[in-house]
Amino acid sequence: MEIEVKSQSDDEMIFIVRDAEVPFVNAIRRCAMVNVPKIAIEDVNIIRNDSAMFNEVLAHRLGLTPLVSDLDALEGLSLPEDDDWEEYSNGIMFTLNEVGPKVVYSKDLKSSDSKIKPVYDTIPLVKLKDGEELNIEAVAKVGYGKEHAKWMPTTVCAYKQYPEITFNEDVEIDYDCAQACPRGILKSDRRSKKIKILDIEDCAMCKSCVRASENGYINVGYRENDFIFRIETDGAMPPKEVLLKACDVLGEKADKFIRFSEEGGSK
Ligand code: SF4
Repeated sequence: MEIEVKSQSDDEMIFIVRDAEVPFVNAIRRCAMVNVPKIAIEDVNIIRNDSAMFNEVLAHRLGLTPLVSDLDALEGLSLPEDDDWEEYSNGIMFTLNEVGPKVVYSKDLKSSDSKIKPVYDTIPLVKLKDGEELNIEAVAKVGYGKEHAKWMPTTVCAYKQYPEITFNEDVEIDYDCAQACPRGILKSDRRSKKIKILDIEDCAMCKSCVRASENGYINVGYRENDFIFRIETDGAMPPKEVLLKACDVLGEKADKFIRFSEEGGSK
């Protein structure tokens, strides 16, 4: 198996996996979505809420506010499988105490741990009218995406098989197929009597070009064992950390399975 990183930023990573199987790539995808620990607000204690927003909606908004959850931030925190995870005080405390008129933003959440804070300062939480007060304390905990979407580190975690475009040289060149591509991947070059493929990795395999070609000049397929994988996060964790952790989790699961098999399935 070969892996090639095509692009990487703070919240997005695109890489090519060659010579792999669908179940393996899909297992990585699932682990990245639901088995990688992330921090999110779990308990909310609303002391005063004069705003027009219901307490439940406000608590839901707080839960979905992305908090910094990189490896540094996660260090030393209880995981859901630990006995002390349930304890209210065993988390990162946030307070929010504001008086209107104003829009309360994520940056107004005050954290008890300087490492763990909202990823973005400008997420609007609630609007307060003149004299309205908001007084909240909240506790953030580590959790997994399999329990709730707020603990899902990925906003996009998907792969597609590597596209393959071929031309039928036995029929007349059909320039219409290039015009039909919604992504501008195909370019007609009438001088050299060819259709050029500009960026095959951007092909959505929608087959609009195939449908537009009446004489079957173009065909779109895919490579069975090559994949284009894309991970996008909400900024709480770098995508590379998500991927590495997902691989660790998958490795641990495989080890467990091997041990179970070696022990004759007795445990
Ligand atoms: S399959 Fe769709 S995206 Fe790909 S080349 Fe054809 S029209 Fe363009």
